[in-house]
Amino acid sequence: MRDTLLLLSTPLVALIFAVTFLVIWQQDRARTENAALGAGWLMLATAMLISQFSPPHMGRALVAITHVPYTLAGLGIASGILLRVGATPPVRSFLAIGLAGICAMALTQTVGNSIKADLLITNLTSGIIMVITTQIFVVTAKRDGIERFMLVTLILVTAQFFLRPTLAFMFDTAIPPAEYRQSAYYLTLAWLFGFGSVLFGLVQLAASVKDYVNALKTRNATDELSGLLARGEFELRVKTALAKASSENREVALVVGDLDHFKQVNDIWGHQVGDRAIAGFGAMAGAMIRSSDIAGRVGGEEFCILVWRADENIAAGLAERLRARTSELDISEGALDVRLSASFGVAQWRGGEGYRALFARADKALYDAKQSGRNCVRRCGVDAPIVNSDEECQDVQRSAAESDIAA
Ligand code: GH3
Ligand code: MG
Ligand code: MG
Repeated sequence: MRDTLLLLSTPLVALIFAVTFLVIWQQDRARTENAALGAGWLMLATAMLISQFSPPHMGRALVAITHVPYTLAGLGIASGILLRVGATPPVRSFLAIGLAGICAMALTQTVGNSIKADLLITNLTSGIIMVITTQIFVVTAKRDGIERFMLVTLILVTAQFFLRPTLAFMFDTAIPPAEYRQSAYYLTLAWLFGFGSVLFGLVQLAASVKDYVNALKTRNATDELSGLLARGEFELRVKTALAKASSENREVALVVGDLDHFKQVNDIWGHQVGDRAIAGFGAMAGAMIRSSDIAGRVGGEEFCILVWRADENIAAGLAERLRARTSELDISEGALDVRLSASFGVAQWRGGEGYRALFARADKALYDAKQSGRNCVRRCGVDAPIVNSDEECQDVQRSAAESDIAA
């Protein structure tokens, strides 16, 4: 009974891995590595079930029958591992090795009479696939946390494909066939194989879950339309940057930009053209800033850039370049000649000042730009009133919004 449970547990675990990978793939079909891993583990579960629950008298035929699903399992899992790290699986080599293994097995079944040759072929086929996979993985994958575990398990799994036939040659013939399944040797191998498979699958699962969580994070962090950071992520990064500026005693400045008369753009040319304008402005701004700057879309057609190591002059220079390039943006469609303009407000960070206070001052400057006729840059200026608390900031923002409505 205990042995039956042991024998059942490994295919069951493989089946659980298969289902889990296929469910993860269902969530994001673009990640084809999960489909390959799911298919690979399904084949492994099938091969394990056949080999563990077939009658003992099947002998050599069993090795030949399970050789096909074991090979397919190796191909699926190897392809999944490589696709995950961005490598292209060598499909032709894989298929050639798989086919050569199947042909060799057919040959030994018809002309040979030794189970040793069968065992050697089945282990070597998977072993060679894994050697190639490990080789490509070493040159492609990064060397951080989970990838290091993946490499270790790959090496262990590869090694066991060469170790198992060696052990089989040494011990298999020494044990009478009738006692083979009950022998300590067979059970030890079954345990080791089971434990190794679970470890191998768990590392792949952990890696897939890590990828999935990272993709979700990136999706939430980026604003799809503009390609810039979404508001939440932008504010988070700016707050971190302000703390860094404080500790390193750096100058930073904030630029707030807003497309002019955007309601009219939507009303006259349609929402799609409006969307194209937001995407065009985002791409342009993203290309014009340095990698140390932080840019985000903080409202419908409102953008914000934290300019690193810059005073108000430098940031105003960037705002001016952005303004000039906005009028050159080509979002026309057919005969339509759509021209855009944008207004900008700039404020230099005062040491110790919070994000909201800084934003409120830059937004006030933006409001001044709108009041001055739009399509211009206005600075907050060093003499602008200092806003300290969040409450006061919101007041500034609210009063700006109210005057906007009144205007
Ligand atoms: P101002 O020059 O004073 O900024 O005028 P405005 O018309 O741009 O002013 P307002 O901020 O009131 O209007 C913004 C408009 O932007 C309203 C909204 O319909 C539009 N908008 C917001 N988000 C999107 C979006 O994702 N796509 C499109 N096409 N339009 C959007
Ligand atoms: Mg606007
Ligand atoms: Mg606006």
